[in-house]
Amino acid sequence: MKKLVSAGEILVEIMAERIGQSFLESGPLLGPYPSGAPAIFIGQAAALGQPAGLIGAVGEDDFGQLNIERLRTLGADVSAIAVHTGHATGTAFVTYRADGSRHFVFNIRNSAAGLVGIDAAAQSMLAGTDHVHVMGSSLFSDRATEVALSAISTVKAKGGTVSFDPNIRREIMQASGMREALDQVLKQTDVFLPSGNELFLFSSAGDEKGAVDDLLQRGVSCIVLKKGADGAAYHDRHGTVALPGFAVDEVDPTGAGDCFGAAFVSFWLRDAAPVEALRIANACGALAVTRKGPMEGIFPLAEVEAFATTAGKGQP
Ligand code: ATP
Ligand code: MG
Repeated sequence: MKKLVSAGEILVEIMAERIGQSFLESGPLLGPYPSGAPAIFIGQAAALGQPAGLIGAVGEDDFGQLNIERLRTLGADVSAIAVHTGHATGTAFVTYRADGSRHFVFNIRNSAAGLVGIDAAAQSMLAGTDHVHVMGSSLFSDRATEVALSAISTVKAKGGTVSFDPNIRREIMQASGMREALDQVLKQTDVFLPSGNELFLFSSAGDEKGAVDDLLQRGVSCIVLKKGADGAAYHDRHGTVALPGFAVDEVDPTGAGDCFGAAFVSFWLRDAAPVEALRIANACGALAVTRKGPMEGIFPLAEVEAFATTAGKGQP
């Protein structure tokens, strides 16, 4: 089976308990929950049985330990997670507004997460890696961008593949070379997984079809558009497959895109038909939103399959 690696921010998330709660005043909080987009992605891929590892850094503290233990329990390779003294593990505080949008307070760049690098353990992990997944949010500093680009070139040099989820988080993505970095990753991308308007950050075409055609022409092998509760659509040069989302009660949307992406990429690496990869990815995304906390809705393959079969009855 092909091995999948991602590199970037490892965090804990701490969540306001009430919708509309402001961080300008004291209020009840939930968490800490293990988090960080690449960590969620790798945790979900591992839970589906894909060999998967994470390159990242945590502090020598409870939050770091919480993350490493969760990833290990899910079956991920944690050998390239460096534990630093002198820096605390990264944090993300999130509160949901009444309109469904989210407000984040991140501490990433100046936390242990900012110390991500390619050390000997990461090098040895990359030597056995077939596929790199990049989260746009992981390009949060020049140093983190170098790690992502270097992982891509190591793996591409031996015939491997790349997937890319822009995962735009304006609060953290302020590195000076961010725009160039996003474009450089896209140029080397095989599987592109944008959500919402992210597609239009990479193409000047005026509509979805135009942007998809443009990107396919520029060398992306396939594009998977994530559409929240509406499901997802897959595009390659042979055509399009669209599937509706599974009906669930959403309690926390954070992490859905990462779980969806992990499932799609894991099945793509197994040469599954696009419709099957999309079906499992939709199931993982739907399950992800049924639990508070970005990694609490990660389930193993058997449970995902069972959910997709039961919840999918009556769907096209
Ligand atoms: P994230 O907040 O993790 O960055 P995203 O914006 O990248 O998310 P979404 O489109 O919100 O991605 O969600 C990814 C996938 O998860 C969707 O394509 C869908 O399959 C599933 N999903 C998300 N929300 C729901 C929902 N409310 N009901 C059912 N499925 C959902
Ligand atoms: Mg996302």
